Amino acid sequence: MNFSSKLLENAVNEFSRLPGIGQKSALRLVLHLLNQSEQDVNRFSEAMSELKTKIKYCSECYNIADNQICEICASHKRDKSIICVVEDTRDVMAIENTNQFQGVYHVLGGLISPMDGVGPTDLRIEQLLERLRKGEVEEIILALSATMEGDTTIFYLYKKIKDFNLKISTIARGIAFGGELEYVDEVTLGRSIVTRIPYERNIA
Ligand SMILES: [Zn+2]
Repeated sequence: MNFSSKLLENAVNEFSRLPGIGQKSALRLVLHLLNQSEQDVNRFSEAMSELKTKIKYCSECYNIADNQICEICASHKRDKSIICVVEDTRDVMAIENTNQFQGVYHVLGGLISPMDGVGPTDLRIEQLLERLRKGEVEEIILALSATMEGDTTIFYLYKKIKDFNLKISTIARGIAFGGELEYVDEVTLGRSIVTRIPYERNIA
């Protein structure tokens, strides 16, 4: 692509580094921004730069938060004896939208994937075990994607936590194999949390 301006080219290059954005889409977005008021563009760039500098990860569950402790962990209405283990913040948002879960979360920050070079130590598994050692947790729900990586991670976690004397369950996989949690509709996801099944029954 030949650009008439270096500034334009820089902006297009930055946008096209985003997932799913090619150079043409990037150009369309940049030209759109250029047509906005200076105030709007400033608000946009401020939101982007604050994203990295100001956002925190909850020191309990590692969900993205504005404070040291996220709103879910800080709430007295949430049942701290049930932890729902998820891959990332998108899953927390999806499950919260179902209004079917009153416990708290643990965000792993990914799934075990040898193909992508992601091992157990790259995830917040030790932090989860640390929470369990405090002895206040009675149930763990493993709400991970129905993919090979999800299953591998569930099995690994199960081996690590089975001696803690907890109820361990997985969400009912009405979800098609290969399905990611965030794409499941709220009713299905909500139901699959309510009708969660003990994990042991799954290993046959
Ligand atoms: Zn939290």
